[in-house]
Amino acid sequence: MSGKADPRPAGEGTTSRTRLDRGRGALGPALELVHTGRAPTRAVLTAELGVTRATAGAVAAELEALGLIRVDARPGAAAGSQGRPSHRLSVAEDGPVALAAQIHADGFRAALVGLGGRIVATAPGREVVDPDPAKVLGSVVAAGAELLRETGRRCVGAGLAVPSAVAEPEGLALNPLHLAWPAGAPVREIFAEQVRAAGLDGPAFAANDVNLAALAEHRHGAGRGSRDLLCVATGHRGVGGALVLDGRLHTGSSGLALEVGHLAVNPDGRPCHCGSRGCLDVEADPLALLTAAGRDPGPVMSLLRQADELIRGRYDDPRVRTATEQLIDRLGLGLAGLVNILNPDRIILGGLHRTLLEADPDRLRAVVADRSLWGRSGGVPILACTLDHNSLVGAAELAWQPVLDDPLGALA
Ligand SMILES: [Zn+2]
Repeated sequence: MSGKADPRPAGEGTTSRTRLDRGRGALGPALELVHTGRAPTRAVLTAELGVTRATAGAVAAELEALGLIRVDARPGAAAGSQGRPSHRLSVAEDGPVALAAQIHADGFRAALVGLGGRIVATAPGREVVDPDPAKVLGSVVAAGAELLRETGRRCVGAGLAVPSAVAEPEGLALNPLHLAWPAGAPVREIFAEQVRAAGLDGPAFAANDVNLAALAEHRHGAGRGSRDLLCVATGHRGVGGALVLDGRLHTGSSGLALEVGHLAVNPDGRPCHCGSRGCLDVEADPLALLTAAGRDPGPVMSLLRQADELIRGRYDDPRVRTATEQLIDRLGLGLAGLVNILNPDRIILGGLHRTLLEADPDRLRAVVADRSLWGRSGGVPILACTLDHNSLVGAAELAWQPVLDDPLGALA
């Protein structure tokens, strides 16, 4: 580089390099458009990218050559913007997958997730979560590796969802309160070690389960098109929250933002494991519902399923109804506080909160509107999460991100 002249004429070199750079630079945005369903045809892709038809065609062909998308040129494909049939774009049915893993209070689930948030294969596992994170993470990675062997798919990387805040940049599970893990366990490092030990390709990531659910819903589910998306959900125990701003998770300065579970919604309420009292975590989770309804939670079935089935199947029982309304009111109070602080343009609810919304949507919307400043004027749409296994799909999104950022670089 030291002062040696470029043998090519300056104009020609610059032009061809620029065209090449622009083409490569468009691969990631183009893949993201197909991945999130926003570019169903090549005509839409051309318009969304703001490039020429020739560039969009070359970009689509390159992504198809990488095995990531399918370009369907059959006549009769959906009409393009000029009224002519345009090539249809879809994610490749048999393309690479990400290994997604989720740990919860009753065990784990492993899945293979393709582009478009499509779950290709899944394997649940029930086990008492060992106090040594390496044991259960070893089990879930082994289950995922078995799915990869059975399907013969290429793996782009692995993502893990855990029911704990995950501190960045180290990837420590700070408060795995409903698992027997030690606080501060280096889960990302342990997960990455298990992924390497299983001989799998690609990087490994870990994050909080509700954050990942929100990311998945924003890209593929009830959060699509939202700019300031608030997600509140129960796992098997406790309550979590997440905020997606302009398509990116808001994680705070060290990954710990949106610990909504410790908003106090009942000053005289139950003592919380955080040291406070009446937190959303203990006033609006599955155990709170079962207790309020006078049910003894048995050890056989997960608390979330027991609580879900009680509301769905026994809502005519006055005790169940009263308990449900009590939880709706407490959840609504928490959401109202969040609406005042965050001014979201949409709220989505997952886990038991989705069931509470479906049981009495008018009651929940009324509490949020009555108790919030911004909620009263116009109201914030409150919707149910729509994806099955949204935390798993979100865990896969982490592993897909390097491919979405630079498809050629990540897959070369
Ligand atoms: Zn608390």
